[in-house]
Amino acid sequence: MKVIKNAVIAHQLTLMRDKNSNSQLFRSCLKTVSYYLAGEATKSLKSRKVHIETPICPMTGTKLADKIVLVPILRAGLGMVDAFREMIPTARIGHIGLYRDEKTKKPVHYYCKMPQTIKGGVVILLDPMFATGHSASDAVDMIKKYKPKEIIFVSIVSAPEAIKYFEPRHKDVKCFTAALDKKLNKDKYIVPGLGDAGDRIFGTK
Ligand code: URA
Repeated sequence: MKVIKNAVIAHQLTLMRDKNSNSQLFRSCLKTVSYYLAGEATKSLKSRKVHIETPICPMTGTKLADKIVLVPILRAGLGMVDAFREMIPTARIGHIGLYRDEKTKKPVHYYCKMPQTIKGGVVILLDPMFATGHSASDAVDMIKKYKPKEIIFVSIVSAPEAIKYFEPRHKDVKCFTAALDKKLNKDKYIVPGLGDAGDRIFGTK
């Protein structure tokens, strides 16, 4: 797990954590933090050479070598998609629908739709809250069935419990986050965290 430390991210994240920040501010900070994480998470992507002509002369430039597929875990992952898509406009988008069963706190799978380009491509899985690690791990299991070349997982806030659960199961997945918090509470929310990311993005509470 790579924790991306930066004063601007820390500032924006503090605004997101503040319970007095409204949904509009929350979304805007989430987008800014996502841009930054997108820059970090895509550093290892491969390039291929392309010959072009600038208005001045011919030159060899580079383009992304691989097909990129962004996969938000519904619904909170949707809040990170715009930033990543603006960085990689050619990316296709897959969706995975998982919700947390109120009693068992385990993820329940209800939707999965992937573009064909996922086979042999690079998947960037998006979920702001890496809490128990069960949703991300289940999502990676589902994605692996489509045989991508690589999976990168990006979250905003992570808990140690998630890393402990996820990493031994998916050693091949590169993980990036903006903050590693203390722990989970009894309801499996991250402490100090930022509350329910989906509710704060969509104003459902
Ligand atoms: N999901 C959230 O939205 N917040 C948490 O703290 C944990 C899971």
